[in-house]
Amino acid sequence: MRILIAEDDLTSRILLAAVLNKNGHDVVEAVNGAEAWCILQQPDTPKLVILDWMMPVMDGLEVVRRVRALEVDSPPYIIMLTTRDEKADIIAGLDAGADDYLTKPFHPGELRSRIEVGRRLIEMQTELLKARNALAHEASHDLLTGILNRRAIQTALSRELSREHRQHGGLAVGICDIDHFKKINDTHGHMVGDEVLCGFVRLIHSCLRDYDHFGRFGGEEFLVIASGVNTDVKNLFERLKKIVAESPIPTRAGNLFITISIGVRIVQENDTMDKLLSAADTALYQAKGSGRNCVCFDDNTCA
Ligand code: GH3
Ligand code: MG
Ligand code: MG
Ligand code: MG
Repeated sequence: MRILIAEDDLTSRILLAAVLNKNGHDVVEAVNGAEAWCILQQPDTPKLVILDWMMPVMDGLEVVRRVRALEVDSPPYIIMLTTRDEKADIIAGLDAGADDYLTKPFHPGELRSRIEVGRRLIEMQTELLKARNALAHEASHDLLTGILNRRAIQTALSRELSREHRQHGGLAVGICDIDHFKKINDTHGHMVGDEVLCGFVRLIHSCLRDYDHFGRFGGEEFLVIASGVNTDVKNLFERLKKIVAESPIPTRAGNLFITISIGVRIVQENDTMDKLLSAADTALYQAKGSGRNCVCFDDNTCA
């Protein structure tokens, strides 16, 4: 494990580093609190820190306070190393956010076992963090296609809508619905239907820009949020329609072709989320009525 030690006394630092090296750890050294603080703000900083209390420039207690004030997902495990063994000092160190303490001169066996305690906690924290991130991903992504789910795409839309009302960069929302999708399920089965949904998502993804958003609204309906669009908005949605119609989607039943209908609303001043979604939905209805494989805008123009 990589361990940061901050100790101003050269002899103590060499001794500490030697014991840690002997126990198989990689040691990063700082000669005072300020240097330690600098290292602790870097991205790939060691997860376990041994801090001397009394150091010039910045003492160990101040380093602990600063580290604990950082809002990071996995804060380091901090052991204070101190000649102070007064109860009040120990309480102050722990209150400031230290996880453990050792009094100098340290006993090598005690140092080793306290580091093991730290390692166990760090590992547990890493696992918890992984589980939390996995849950957060699950809560915001569609299980089948991997893109944003309805809740997450609506959150993205709400964010983009607020930005649009402030900055007027041009925002368009398109509801894409696969044409006669039920027929694919009925003809080839649900599994093939699922493959078509995934293939469709890959096609759309390949056409969108990094800053566009794409999510599954439900069933075979998807939402595209395109920001920074001006005159090219029609091209964007027509391109989506065209690429879907022209690209074979590989499935276990062979290559299948689908078409989509898209209802688009270019966001207007004072649009609320409900208003723009229902306008896009009305345009989609019109696209279906116009024979499908069609893009309709809410100003009644279709292509
Ligand atoms: P239209 O052109 O009018 O949109 O016709 P459609 O057949 O696409 O529309 P309809 O609403 O009649 O049918 C949608 C179908 O999508 C019905 C439903 O079973 C299917 N579906 C919804 N979610 C999934 C899914 O996750 N997997 C599969 N395979 N099918 C799904
Ligand atoms: Mg010191
Ligand atoms: Mg459909
Ligand atoms: Mg539908």
